[in-house]
Amino acid sequence: MAVKVTPACMGCQACITACPHEALFINEDGLCQVIEDKCIECSECVGVCPVTALELAKQLDTTEYVASQKLPEKQESETTPTTEAAAQLSGDLGKYKGVWVFIEQREGEIAPVSLELLGAGRQLADKLGVELAGVILGYQICGSETKLYEYGADKVYLVDDPILRYYRAETYMQVFVKLVQQYLPEIILMGATTTGRDLAGAVATELETGLTADCTVLDIDLQQRLLLATRPAFGGNIMATIISKNHRPQMSTVRPKVMKMAKPVPGRQGILIKSEVDLNEADMLTQVLRIVQDQGDKINLQDAEIIVAGGRGLGDKENFQKTCYGLAEAIGGKVGGSRAAVEAGWLDHKYQIGQTGITVAPKIYFALGISGAIQHLVGIRGSDVIIAVNSDPEALIFKECTYGIVGDATKIVPSLIEPLRELFKGKGSRDTAKGEGGTRCA
Ligand code: FAD
Repeated sequence: MAVKVTPACMGCQACITACPHEALFINEDGLCQVIEDKCIECSECVGVCPVTALELAKQLDTTEYVASQKLPEKQESETTPTTEAAAQLSGDLGKYKGVWVFIEQREGEIAPVSLELLGAGRQLADKLGVELAGVILGYQICGSETKLYEYGADKVYLVDDPILRYYRAETYMQVFVKLVQQYLPEIILMGATTTGRDLAGAVATELETGLTADCTVLDIDLQQRLLLATRPAFGGNIMATIISKNHRPQMSTVRPKVMKMAKPVPGRQGILIKSEVDLNEADMLTQVLRIVQDQGDKINLQDAEIIVAGGRGLGDKENFQKTCYGLAEAIGGKVGGSRAAVEAGWLDHKYQIGQTGITVAPKIYFALGISGAIQHLVGIRGSDVIIAVNSDPEALIFKECTYGIVGDATKIVPSLIEPLRELFKGKGSRDTAKGEGGTRCA
């Protein structure tokens, strides 16, 4: 096994000096190449590559995972390397076993990110040879375990109590921490949603353990039995792989749409463990008095199948509207943009895609006048097809896209609108309308 170089490589040489085994060189095309005999997949190069062009061959491929029908075989067979590694884990750390996913739900409806994390968690659990469990807290949620088994959980810890009806950091943290202290999982994954981020921070603080937020890749170092949690760092200029050597559980949050959901296996069974709550409403510092539903814009770019995104290259707001909303309206897509477009005031921040915006995973992503900065790319890598239009043939986006057109997007795109309207007839979500001031697309 050796590190793989993807077409994103731009020959910057950052990896060459980082490699302690002299296993990389720049070939005659000016791109990085791996000397397979020398590479031991230590991942030093992966962390320094500014365009994430290097991948571990053993890295998770979440796209291909299908939840296994079988429960994992009993893990602690004496010959597995994980057992040896576990034995070396000092004292109490070795007692922690299993991968947990916090299952976020609202009024009984499970958040898609939790199912995505069951897919990723399943792979981690299989690598470690341990069980995958979903942990669901709430009120009148009995029965939701069935879906969790189908998406890969071997076990579900379920706590059903009126005190847990609405999320509160105070109640959820106490119940979750108690479960962790009782069952000692080695890894906990949570969605990087408003709730997940809040709860993860509170739980990690209470347990005095490490938490890596907004991970984009999760993997296992089997030798040391460590979670390798990779995320953009230093403003997205490097991908850092973070480990928690001395504390358990190892915690990570992952944004929605970063991991692909596993295919459910209907009828898959698991084990249900119900726990009681030992909390008194009267002792709680916070109370939920009422829930006010947001009546505003219901656009959810994260669920869009087609996204037309524009960047600074479109020149001005008028061009942005004409090209992005024009194309989106014709093919039933939704409109998003780069940070530069948002900062120029062409669309609202909630439509910003990328590291400090949202992560999307549409079937088709149009990048119009977008350069392909790493901070933008991390938000679109889950897209099935990326179509880029850029006047600069050297633009980074061309290293990442499926199809690229070199030219002026403000001229090319309007000329494609009618032919594409015909082509897409009856396809797409058809819920896009011309935006007022570029801020609405619903
Ligand atoms: P530019 O980089 O200016 O690129 C414009 C592109 O348009 C160029 O490639 C140019 O060749 C092309 N062009 C020019 N004219 C035309 C034309 N007529 N037709 C076609 N193409 C044309 N950015 C994000 O997008 N999302 C984020 O979440 C995000 N978070 C960030 C977080 C941090 C901490 C930092 C430091 C930066 C972040 N950025 C983010 C900013 C990011 O680094 C880039 O600056 C930004 O993505 C650039 O936007 P752009 O591609 O629209 O503009």
